[in-house]
Amino acid sequence: MAEKDTKSKDNKFDVAVIGAGPAGIMAAGQAASSGAKVILIEKNKQFGKKILLTGNGRCNITNAEFDLRKLTQNYGKNGNFLFHAFSVFGPKETIEFFNKLRLETKTENNKRVFPVSDNANDVLGTLNKFLTKNKVNIAFNSEVAEIIIKGKKISKVVLKDGEATAKKYILCTGGKSYPLTGSDGFGYKLAEKMGHTIIKPIPALSPIIAKEEWVKSLPGISLEDTKITVFQNNKKQFEEEGEILFTHFGVSGPEILNISGGIGELLEKGEVKIRVDLFPLLNHEELLKGLEDVLKSNANKSVKNILSIFVPERFAEALLGNSGMDKNKIANNMSTIEKRIIVKTLKNIEITAQETLGFDKALVTRGGISLKEIDHKTMKSKIIDNLYFAGEIIDIDGKTGGFNLQASWSTGYLAGNSAVN
Ligand SMILES: Cc1cc2nc3c(=O)[nH]c(=O)nc-3n(C[C@H](O)[C@H](O)[C@H](O)COP(=O)(O)OP(=O)(O)OC[C@H]3O[C@@H](n4cnc5c(N)ncnc54)[C@H](O)[C@@H]3O)c2cc1C
Repeated sequence: MAEKDTKSKDNKFDVAVIGAGPAGIMAAGQAASSGAKVILIEKNKQFGKKILLTGNGRCNITNAEFDLRKLTQNYGKNGNFLFHAFSVFGPKETIEFFNKLRLETKTENNKRVFPVSDNANDVLGTLNKFLTKNKVNIAFNSEVAEIIIKGKKISKVVLKDGEATAKKYILCTGGKSYPLTGSDGFGYKLAEKMGHTIIKPIPALSPIIAKEEWVKSLPGISLEDTKITVFQNNKKQFEEEGEILFTHFGVSGPEILNISGGIGELLEKGEVKIRVDLFPLLNHEELLKGLEDVLKSNANKSVKNILSIFVPERFAEALLGNSGMDKNKIANNMSTIEKRIIVKTLKNIEITAQETLGFDKALVTRGGISLKEIDHKTMKSKIIDNLYFAGEIIDIDGKTGGFNLQASWSTGYLAGNSAVN
């Protein structure tokens, strides 16, 4: 990797890659591996700022889902667009890529892949090695302010301080989430000016702010193996199974993050309710029977103490408060109606989603450059002849678990390859 002064006369390249996140780094290194003269333009004074934050500093590099059809299912309705990119450079190739560069990896639960060192710095160091090995020129502190078009081609990019010219350009400026890392959504404006359609960006993989005060009074409580169903106008929209984590503002946890993009879309249209079933494997009658057995063997205990067998005590108190029942009622004295109320409460906790926590806290952006205007086999723009895209700037977002970085590696690899072939 050589640092490049974009004010110098020697600023003509085969490929100019804009944005040095995972997609841009992969695209630049891959294009340069063919011998092409490549410049990677980054507005920050270092690259991959966001990578250091990934996976809580551990970097969940990819997901070891090697069945590519199943893999695409983790990207919602747009997942099929990625099938070709995955078949060229999927999770298997990604793991091999890092291993070959001497980054050892390990696979944890839910097929999540991390560096053995649990340190995102090592991923960044490996990517640095990759850029150096392939002699990629890199211009730090270089923000692309404008892209100049002649006919149907980019003729040059204007930087805040200098300019660069290339035969092909790859735009990898990311989405709008965590804007302090550099991805502030300006790339959408650059693409829009070149005639591309931007599907409205909304925060995804974001915690949810709840309306109810009782929800916010339970920070730190986590309930596992729940069924989380999302409703609008009393109509079921979608559901997830897994953990729900209560926070001082609402709810979070991997499953909530995964459905937050969908909740964000629904919130644009109106109120959204999240219903949580704490016992999805039992129907009401089965749970009633189980509850009656527990009540019988704890006949002199209070209902609060009994509920605390099923859920954390603070949560039991909040639930009883919501159901209007006396928390000190003794099991022996409970009527069937009261028992049914408890069952209903355990299977039907209702939370009103007020809003997502926004781009500052959303791990990814849903929306971006319309996939209709990108060739999925090459990542080439269907509007501008010498332009390619990769990474989160396109209208792709995945679930938690390494899927978003995988989309960046795959589309970056494909764009880098296509730009030199
Ligand atoms: C806190 C956090 C944790 C995450 N953890 C994971 C995880 O563990 N696993 C996973 O798969 N995904 C994770 N993600 C998502 C993942 O990091 C992103 O999807 C991925 O970084 C997107 O890569 P990208 O290269 O498209 O964009 P980015 O990483 O956003 O990089 C874009 C780059 O372009 C530069 N840029 C922008 N505009 C310009 C311009 N005009 N001129 C020059 N440069 C410009 C930016 O400075 C930035 O360096 C996480 C995200 C966050 C915020």
